[in-house]
Amino acid sequence: MDIRILDGKKIAQAIREEIRQEVERQVGMTGKRPCLAVALVGDDPASQVYVRNKEKACESAGIVSVLRRLPATTTTSQLLELLSHWNQDPAIHGILVQLPVPDGIDSRAVLDAIDPRKDVDAFAAENVGRISQDRPRFLPCTPHGVVQLLAREGIEAEGKEVVVIGRSDIVGKPLAMMLLQKEGPCGSRFANATVTCCHSRSQNLPSITRRADILIAAIGKPNFVGPEMVKPGAVVIDVGINRLGDKLVGDVDFDAVSRVASAITPVPGGIGPLTIAMLLHNTMKAFTLQEGTSAQK
Ligand code: NAD
Repeated sequence: MDIRILDGKKIAQAIREEIRQEVERQVGMTGKRPCLAVALVGDDPASQVYVRNKEKACESAGIVSVLRRLPATTTTSQLLELLSHWNQDPAIHGILVQLPVPDGIDSRAVLDAIDPRKDVDAFAAENVGRISQDRPRFLPCTPHGVVQLLAREGIEAEGKEVVVIGRSDIVGKPLAMMLLQKEGPCGSRFANATVTCCHSRSQNLPSITRRADILIAAIGKPNFVGPEMVKPGAVVIDVGINRLGDKLVGDVDFDAVSRVASAITPVPGGIGPLTIAMLLHNTMKAFTLQEGTSAQK
């Protein structure tokens, strides 16, 4: 079967260019520039790389970024004080705390302290509730990236069997919710699916995943999904990013599954670049909400 490789990098570039143009339009209207503030606590090497990539992406989109590096010894109350300051600063439109935070910090209290109107990761209870009612303010970046990829590749979800493996608050659960909605972020053709969300306690996983017209893996286990788990002709979306020696691999055994599926996302170059693009989108949206302007799209 001819396999179609879904090029997330290319789609992310197109989205970033749209955002860059919209930023300039907004600057022209308001004389102000969107700004994203990021708190990075401790010295986790992967987090350093992610934060640097976010800074670079902001810069290329014309978005101001503010980075506050804090030592691993930072207390919850010190972090809450910084967030309170950022919440009240009208020049800061989006706020995120890079996860994971060191063990001593109460991450729930920290995420709850971000003003929901500046919560560009969409982790606040109010924003999660709004997503479940299909009237979102912000959408979490990785699941939104997946739906954007489906829409821009013309892969319809409406009426299809979609199986999501993974039920995290960051990826699996909100993605299952978005695909279940009547409208979803990209319209009814890219929502309205019959969704099954699997997890570590699911029984006989292959019998469930083989039902999927669209199979999405967000597990965090290298090459977990093999060809025996995939219906011939299915679309396979790999959200996983795992380090295997000096290589990055997904949750899907790319070579083996490519012989069965009709379309597949690579790792790297699949969903990863879209996550950052959707963070820029959310920062832009936060700006328009706070400045009372409307976005062109
Ligand atoms: P997580 O550890 O919070 O959740 C993993 C989920 O997988 C859990 O819900 C668990 O129940 C499920 N799971 C674990 N073992 C399983 C099994 N044997 N069978 C079925 N389900 C099982 O992880 P996460 O934050 O959701 O991230 C998942 C993966 O996606 C990771 O590789 C992560 O690095 C990657 N990720 C990528 C991006 C991106 O930008 N592409 C963003 C976020 C996360």
